[in-house]
Amino acid sequence: MFGAVLQGNDGIDAPSRDETMRLLLVDDDEVDRMAIIRALRQWHCPLAIVEAATADAALNTFATAPFDAVLLDYRLPDMDGLEVLRRMNSRRMGSTAILMLTGMDDDDLATQCIEAGAQDFLLKQEISPRRLMRAVTHARMRHRIENALIESHERLRELAEQDPLTGLANRYSFDQSLRAAIPRTRRYNLNLALLLLDLDNFKLINDSHGHDVGDQLLRIVAHRLMEVTRDGDILCRLGGDEFAVLAFQIGHDDSVHQLSERLLGAASRPVEVGGAVLPMSASIGIALCPDNTSDADELFKCADLAMYRAKRGGRNQAHYFSEDLHRQVMRRVQTERDLRTALSRGEFEVFYQPQVSAANGGPFGAEALIRWHHPERGLLAPGEFLDIAEDTGLIEPIGAWVLETACADIVSGRLGDLPRRVAVNLSAQQLRSPELLGKVRTLRDGLSACGGVLELEITESVLIADIVQSQAILGAIAELGVGIAIDDFGTGYSSLSYLKQLPIDTLKVDKSFLDQVPEGEKDKRLLRAMIQMARNMGFRVVVEGVETRQQADVCRDYGADAIQGYFFARPVSLPDLPGALRHIREI
Ligand code: C2E
Ligand code: CA
Ligand code: CA
Repeated sequence: MFGAVLQGNDGIDAPSRDETMRLLLVDDDEVDRMAIIRALRQWHCPLAIVEAATADAALNTFATAPFDAVLLDYRLPDMDGLEVLRRMNSRRMGSTAILMLTGMDDDDLATQCIEAGAQDFLLKQEISPRRLMRAVTHARMRHRIENALIESHERLRELAEQDPLTGLANRYSFDQSLRAAIPRTRRYNLNLALLLLDLDNFKLINDSHGHDVGDQLLRIVAHRLMEVTRDGDILCRLGGDEFAVLAFQIGHDDSVHQLSERLLGAASRPVEVGGAVLPMSASIGIALCPDNTSDADELFKCADLAMYRAKRGGRNQAHYFSEDLHRQVMRRVQTERDLRTALSRGEFEVFYQPQVSAANGGPFGAEALIRWHHPERGLLAPGEFLDIAEDTGLIEPIGAWVLETACADIVSGRLGDLPRRVAVNLSAQQLRSPELLGKVRTLRDGLSACGGVLELEITESVLIADIVQSQAILGAIAELGVGIAIDDFGTGYSSLSYLKQLPIDTLKVDKSFLDQVPEGEKDKRLLRAMIQMARNMGFRVVVEGVETRQQADVCRDYGADAIQGYFFARPVSLPDLPGALRHIREI
């Protein structure tokens, strides 16, 4: 009956005629063995037959030499044929076909044999070279199919667990490793460190050099990281330009530190791709188990927070997670939440810091500066929330509100005799917003007679980040008759001639230029050169951050048009403005 299974397979991958077929014949009955050998000899293939009379001898022989086929008598003196079959099967490497031989026709037994791994079940009296050949052919085919299956399984596993670009473990398998590792640390009192590594500015490279270069770069970095991780540590690419290292049994903090230094070093060497040398750096966040937490998800979060901190800290550095950092981050999260409702709850206020005319010491104008009356934390300066507003996009509605409020204050006359110039800060996002121009136009129309009072302050670095776009938008704003001031001038590395291409009215010299004034001669020369050059180019010059009378005198002597700083007045609320102006007049 089992011969039928093999029908149709005739001729497929049959052993070639000149290949010697190696057979192991296992039968305790010598007469049977001879009969079988005689039958086989009729075959024209060359045969090498090894005989075994016991299961023990058969298993020993089987273990030491490769066979194409085993003819196995079901009934052996020392062991059940099925058991022999199972043992052979468990050790079987390669494509050995095992054929069971019996003297009786028993379907149940035949089924059991096939289930135990036999390729065929033959009655001794039926044995023929043809049956044998079919069985061997079948075994080889099956072996080949099995191999192909195993290979495709492995390929699937690789696909599921491996990052195809770098060949590193992917996020899934990393996750599995982490989850498996944590209970072990608990059980055996071990510790481990999770290091998240993120390339700095990779997106920029990808955008400007193309994805091929980006891919190549990732491969090179992956290789370098691999070279600096220790055997047994797990390195993976989480996705994009994010990598992670799981370092086991970190003996002391020092070794995590060394590892992170090695990783930073590896990721911070310039990479040469396609003829270009690309500068590289990376940021690393580190979390420790069990020190920080013994939960896989938490550990990831901790390392992520630390990474965030490393990025904020100026990149190209590693940062450890700590409770303190945790508190800071929680505070940030809370601030973000509060910020979302602050505008609708009317918690913001616009303060004004007067600017003083250098020529006559009288009022020149003011800068509008936002303040937040936080319900629990009190009055907050922009440094405490503006970067969060930028990150979350809330800066747009908040900035628009400041602009509207300042315009309303100008028109209402609430600013008193101040308003020759009222400057309002614009963020990068506001500048890039397609709605900006429409808003400014509406507000400008509302200002009517006070139209020339409004000035928008934009940080130098924001303007030069995209000079073409800046030119377009500033041109349109200038046409409305709204003034434009460059804020924090001197910190953005732009040359004065570069700024000449933009319709700028005012340069605000950054307060850092006053740090060594009046004592530092070099700084004073720099300040003077800057003020004079700006004036020669037709810009109005405001120096900010003036805290002493000497500084004010220096600025005036060097030709600044206006001076702003704590020496004259701090930013104040509208009700406090008259008092501040009175104080200025008394100075
Ligand atoms: P900024 O535009 O450079 O504003 C000047 C900052 O310097 C103000 O800080 C001001 O209080 C401070 N300052 C003025 N005189 C002195 C001085 O003599 N000594 C010192 N040490 N500091 C002085 P403030 O109000 O905390 O604002 C910080 C920054 O927040 C501003 O820097 C500006 O970039 C931003 N900002 C404020 N209000 C707004 C706003 O409504 N929209 C936008 N987009 N940004 C704003
Ligand atoms: Ca400003
Ligand atoms: Ca400034």
